[in-house]
Amino acid sequence: MPHYIGRFAPTPTGPLHFGSLVAALASYLDAKSHNGTWLLRIEDLDPPREDKAASTLIPKQLLKHGLKWDGDIEFQSHHGTRYERYLAQLKEQGLLFPCGCSRKTLAAHQGLHHGNCHSALDKPHAWRLVTPDEKWQFNDAVYGDNSQELAQVGDQVLKRKDGLYAYQLAVVVDDYESGINHVVRGLDLLDNTPRQLYLMQCLGIKAPHYLHIPLITNESGQKLSKQNQAQALDLHSVADNLLAALRFLRQTTPPMNMQQDTASILNWATQHWQVSKIPALKDGLIL
Ligand code: GLU
Repeated sequence: MPHYIGRFAPTPTGPLHFGSLVAALASYLDAKSHNGTWLLRIEDLDPPREDKAASTLIPKQLLKHGLKWDGDIEFQSHHGTRYERYLAQLKEQGLLFPCGCSRKTLAAHQGLHHGNCHSALDKPHAWRLVTPDEKWQFNDAVYGDNSQELAQVGDQVLKRKDGLYAYQLAVVVDDYESGINHVVRGLDLLDNTPRQLYLMQCLGIKAPHYLHIPLITNESGQKLSKQNQAQALDLHSVADNLLAALRFLRQTTPPMNMQQDTASILNWATQHWQVSKIPALKDGLIL
């Protein structure tokens, strides 16, 4: 068995809320229960959507909960040269094409793009990946077998018209460059997995193992997020936050005398981590 390398990869749109703590905790426990390495990568690819303070606040929130990552924090905003290298490889393989199509023209096709539009290079353009109409399958440790027709996704944008790199490119490249072989993340990204696997195949990258966890939602069924005013984690109740996150994941919680400090809770939870107990809910768990 190769050494387990996992990660937590938050987008710094705001401070961590309870839903993000559950994802961080699940990826931490899965890594540590395999004597693995747990990395932290800040996915700061899209400055207009980000909250400047969040990139420094998130690591502090994790540390307060005893969730200490291994090695240095990585920032996607520092990886432009790396992404260009992979884009160049895809261009050389004839898998990337410039696209000047507007949102308006694509609206007639449900926003999807199919086939090289041969747009001019001297006009503003995105770079899209030629994507075949094929069905992609993968196995998830919680949600089992999943498949998706890539035609439902169309030719994905890997670099946007405004020059920003797309999440799909950055996540595949950075996971590979960090040696990540286990991806633990929220269910909202399950349907992004087939297109990421296809991109990995184009780049000759070996796929990691996947474990998606159910989402925490508010009462109207929306994923907790900054957009729907999810509360930042209360740092006065870190032990209780961890215990609540364990309950959401249907893990057993430590006995009372081990519930006071984060180190004892995490230690106990690592030893008792059971993926089979995580409920494969499609609708999310209401907070
Ligand atoms: N940055 C993504 C998020 O915060 C997670 C990406 C991933 O885990 O692949 O939702």
